[in-house]
Amino acid sequence: MPDDDVPRGPARLTVLAGPTAVGKGTVSADIRARYPQVWLSVSATTRPPRPGEVHGVHYLFVTPEEFDRMVAAGEMLEWAVVHGRHRYGTPRGPVAEHLAAGRPTLLEIDLQGARQVRDAVRAASLDAQFVFLAPPSHEELVRRLVGRGTESEAERERRLATAAVEMAAEPEFDVTIVNDDVTRATDDLARLLGVRAQGGAPAASRSA
Ligand code: 5GP
Repeated sequence: MPDDDVPRGPARLTVLAGPTAVGKGTVSADIRARYPQVWLSVSATTRPPRPGEVHGVHYLFVTPEEFDRMVAAGEMLEWAVVHGRHRYGTPRGPVAEHLAAGRPTLLEIDLQGARQVRDAVRAASLDAQFVFLAPPSHEELVRRLVGRGTESEAERERRLATAAVEMAAEPEFDVTIVNDDVTRATDDLARLLGVRAQGGAPAASRSA
């Protein structure tokens, strides 16, 4: 049997989803920083950049017209309107290229997108795993939503409503990682991706 920590054969596509404000972005940023051998898909979005966000690194910031063009041309593996506002989508080409090159590939997307990818990989008989990032508790999720402070009251209400629906989707996923500690959650995800921390140390084991 191959060592679980060493990727063999074609790389596996991993989809990370979970409720709003659970910390998907933080876990993906930690993967980017500590596991550079993982390719993190760069989504296209019609949302304007936040301070510090870089075009081509965090997102491809595109106009609604360019997003329409990409969808019409079949360039999106999946796309969705998130929180009833902006559109987000995964460009298909780079995902296929990185998988073909044997690189573990991670998509951090919303639930609607994860469902579309599930349908797409079933149709194409691709090997993929779907990971649900869960908060330690509902109270903690609410605290994180309110504590972020970057959205208006109306936006927080909308995200809270979306989060309730998203939490109910957990059984649709192959694996759940509880995000009570970012480093541990990232290391759990790295184990699922089959990668080791650069420098040789294996990803930390899941604590009992
Ligand atoms: P934010 O605007 O805070 O960066 O992201 C908002 C939400 O959009 C997050 O839940 C994130 O997972 C989701 N998202 C980011 N990129 C994509 C994508 O390519 N497709 C889909 N469906 N959702 C995405």
